[in-house]
Amino acid sequence: MRVEKKIEEAAQLIVQSHRMVAFTGAGHSTSSGIPDFRSPHSGLWEKNNPMLVASIWSFRLNPNNFYDWIRPMVDTLIHAEPNPAHRALAELERLGYLQVVITQNIDDLHQRAGSRRVLELHGHLREATCVRCYKKVPVDPAMVNLLLSGQVPRCNECGGVLKPDVILFGEQLPIRVLNQAMEEARRCDLMLVAGSSLEVTPAADIPFLAVDCGAKAIIVNLEPTSFDSRADVVIHGDVAEILPCLVEAVSEMGGARERDM
Ligand code: NAD
Repeated sequence: MRVEKKIEEAAQLIVQSHRMVAFTGAGHSTSSGIPDFRSPHSGLWEKNNPMLVASIWSFRLNPNNFYDWIRPMVDTLIHAEPNPAHRALAELERLGYLQVVITQNIDDLHQRAGSRRVLELHGHLREATCVRCYKKVPVDPAMVNLLLSGQVPRCNECGGVLKPDVILFGEQLPIRVLNQAMEEARRCDLMLVAGSSLEVTPAADIPFLAVDCGAKAIIVNLEPTSFDSRADVVIHGDVAEILPCLVEAVSEMGGARERDM
């Protein structure tokens, strides 16, 4: 089927829905210059073993491994701007169709694009926590400069290592956020998955939970995923190109509508 036809079908599902939820992953931000984990050739795991650089066990043993890995990406993360895919989801919320974005991303780009309801399953980079005394501090420019100079940020109270509030492999997801996301998945009648390989659980279970509870589903991803066979519309394409077209089609079909919270 041609992609235009698929976009039309997806737009129809959105206009007919009463409670739509979006679930996004690293692929949503690749057009903003932030590499994902698993894309062939460009994914971050092409060069690194995740368990050695981004697990809680390796962080506790040797935080340098984590900081040496993330240091070259800090500049990219700081300077990344929302792309048309982020803006499209913000627009769907503004138009009254999208209730919430559930994201695995830590880059803050949904919020910066204007999305107001965002559930961050894997945390964020706005704050850091001391692994020894659990003091929480904002990630400010001074900490970023310290990190860029090759040092490991430390707690000014106890000298323990500071860990950004992102969820590393082996860590529990923030339970309140996870519960809210699962509740949204159970309640929604349309799930839009965008830019995720759906290989990282338990986050990846959320779209499956939605369809198990009766929701219809749309997936937009460059590569096939295990969710494709459960979705009503599958589009293999770039979210930064497809999602703006989807919003345009929704606007033409349905325009703005009252929020249905
Ligand atoms: P992933 O790397 O496992 O999968 C990304 C998927 O997106 C791939 O299937 C790829 O084909 C697809 N993709 C890449 N660019 C795309 C585009 N422009 N349009 C459509 N599809 C595109 O990422 P994941 O599923 O999110 O899971 C891995 C983990 O990655 C998550 O835990 C997340 O926290 C973390 N992560 C986040 C960021 C970020 O915050 N931007 C960056 C890297 C990794």
